[in-house]
Amino acid sequence: MTSTLPSGLSARQAAPVTTPIPVSLRIRERLQKEAVPFLANDNISEHLREGELDQLEIEVAGKVRELLRSLVIDIDNDHNTEETAERVAKMYLHEVFKGRYHEQPKIASFPNVKQLDEIYTVGPISIRSACSHHLVPILGNCWIGIKPGERVIGLSKFSRVADWVFSRPHIQEEAVIILADEIERLCEPLGLAILVKAQHYCMKWRGVKEPQTSMVNSVVRGDFRHDPSLKQEFFELVRQQESMLGN
Ligand SMILES: [Zn+2]
Repeated sequence: MTSTLPSGLSARQAAPVTTPIPVSLRIRERLQKEAVPFLANDNISEHLREGELDQLEIEVAGKVRELLRSLVIDIDNDHNTEETAERVAKMYLHEVFKGRYHEQPKIASFPNVKQLDEIYTVGPISIRSACSHHLVPILGNCWIGIKPGERVIGLSKFSRVADWVFSRPHIQEEAVIILADEIERLCEPLGLAILVKAQHYCMKWRGVKEPQTSMVNSVVRGDFRHDPSLKQEFFELVRQQESMLGN
């Protein structure tokens, strides 16, 4: 880059060094101004402007590079970690945490013309997430039970919305509630039940190092909440689906 300086001025006098504002700071200021929450499991996609995700990727890669240097890893001479920073930035923004930065996949709902009112379950749906506390994987399965209301969505769409919701740093208890909210928004069922069974790598890989422990939690809404026999039917259907897998 070349610049023309007024005669008699040194570069230092003419152009005080200004560091560009990091894109993450610009986004955070915007979110704060609009009072939009940006917790680890919030989606902020609608507040990102064109090109900002690419800029974020560059910024995050720079920070990961610094993290690796702080971990005293010789990224300049170690061919294995030479491009790790770029890979990690891409993985966070577009894969494992894509549910924060990318819009919800388009999911069309249809009128329940046949007035279906029998409950059905979908599962197991693989879930891949990460714990908010350590950013290590949470992997498991999810089952969704629906008592249809006015609208219905295709079976495969449950996997897509679950993948989008879980691809954020989470705690399992909140993830299930966020998923329930999204499904209610999409198809307004008369009843909704969700069960999640997952293994937390912060317990398997570190900490207490318990390889077999899993966490199971559920949320029941609408008719599943008010009608104990319906709730029982859901858990029975899940049990049957699980035994089909030989678990
Ligand atoms: Zn953790």
